[in-house]
Amino acid sequence: MNVTIIGCGYVGLVTGACLSDIGNDVCCFDVDASRIAVLEGGGVPIHEPGLREIIARNRTAGRLSFTTDARTAIAHGDVIFIAVGTPSDEDGSADLQYVLSAAREIGRYMEGFTVVVDKSTVPVGTARRVGDTIAEQLALRAMEPLFSVVSNPEFLKEGAAIEDFTRPERIVLGCDDDVPGERALETMKRLYAPFNRNRERTLHMDVRSAEFTKYAANAMLATRISFMNELANLAERVGADIDAVRRGIGSDPRIGYHFLYAGCGYGGSCFPKDVEALKRTAQESGQALRILEAVSAVNATQKRVLERKIVARFGEDLDGLTFGVWGLAFKPETDDMREAPSRVLIAALLARGAHVVAFDPVALGEAKRAFEFDLRGDDDALSRLTLVNDQMEAAQGVDALVVMTEWKAFKSPDLRSLRHLLKRPVIFDGRNLYDPLAMAETGIEYHSIGRPSFG
Ligand code: NAD
Repeated sequence: MNVTIIGCGYVGLVTGACLSDIGNDVCCFDVDASRIAVLEGGGVPIHEPGLREIIARNRTAGRLSFTTDARTAIAHGDVIFIAVGTPSDEDGSADLQYVLSAAREIGRYMEGFTVVVDKSTVPVGTARRVGDTIAEQLALRAMEPLFSVVSNPEFLKEGAAIEDFTRPERIVLGCDDDVPGERALETMKRLYAPFNRNRERTLHMDVRSAEFTKYAANAMLATRISFMNELANLAERVGADIDAVRRGIGSDPRIGYHFLYAGCGYGGSCFPKDVEALKRTAQESGQALRILEAVSAVNATQKRVLERKIVARFGEDLDGLTFGVWGLAFKPETDDMREAPSRVLIAALLARGAHVVAFDPVALGEAKRAFEFDLRGDDDALSRLTLVNDQMEAAQGVDALVVMTEWKAFKSPDLRSLRHLLKRPVIFDGRNLYDPLAMAETGIEYHSIGRPSFG
């Protein structure tokens, strides 16, 4: 099939690359000329394991191309995916300007019957607005509205995106209950058939339910995390170990183990904005989502949990102290710094006068941009932040080491060498990576989340 992808970010690139890999002819379009230049030069503008190889082999095979020319891209696709960003607007609702701009481009240049796919995470009712926008443009060209808008939310996880896309748990297809909608459904089923060979994974539903499903999924996962974080804080007060509790409840199949890890808060490009957008949808409908109000409030507090522990240990004024930070990305195997808890912690340490030396295996470039943005106008704070390329350099001679992301490389350090590297043997672990007893035996003072502290 001829497929067009609008938006070459995490979702668009993975979708385009994986669909070309099974034989489709895919053209990816982005308004960001520098991004397209990187892709045309054989580079990949984001870090996602396995993506570079898939893009390279399909470009060589002539099945995958990149362009900034909307006309070429849109005329190419029988199926056109909208995979642009939907960031939070000032009031928390999803900002649909990029989605609607993509819809206008589609209406301007599409030819023949086209399946338009909303891949971006968008509020209930957006497919309708996308359809109206396309129809307006077609009317200006005196063309028949020969298209159908399908809601096909994406559930991939950054860091495991290729695996998630090619072996999905489910493929949600929200289609209209009319002739073009049925035709669009058949096309989408054919497009995804190679990922469905062993069992049928497509879930067909109405468009609005499909749009809602994505928000419901992210809201549920965020709820589990905030629930465990709140229990972790209580566990510390009452002398329980949240990790033992996690195993105790996760073994119940009604609960399961996923998303029960206590930590220093969730971040990323999806959970925070999607929780806000769903709350906003609820307010607009005259209903409060009280559980979700608490989920985001708990998360905002949890992002400061390590700052509170550091202040309790070293005092309010951190002037003259240096903290090493391991991990900046919001989670491992990605360079994504959007809403990363490390941004909150590091800004707080710098505001209290500390120096910070930070390391991340792949996010240093994104981190540099993020901190330059967060600390704009505060050259003094920025001058006290050093990003280093070596994990151990971020531990060398520091007053305490803080772990913010659960990268594999951080999981089993040589504790004795680490102890000697640190000026003071103190570790604050925002991801509960280490065994508190092993830390105690090595003589490292150890503070983690919801577990006993030693030292
Ligand atoms: P991203 O910010 O990485 O990429 C978006 C891209 O769209 C950018 O390259 C931008 O230049 C481009 N763009 C913006 N307006 C455009 C236009 N009018 N025409 C062409 N290109 C345009 O975003 P992302 O992380 O890939 O997310 C995309 C959508 O998918 C969002 O709605 C997000 O909520 C959803 N989603 C993301 C993930 C994830 O893990 N990142 C997972 C599931 C769903």
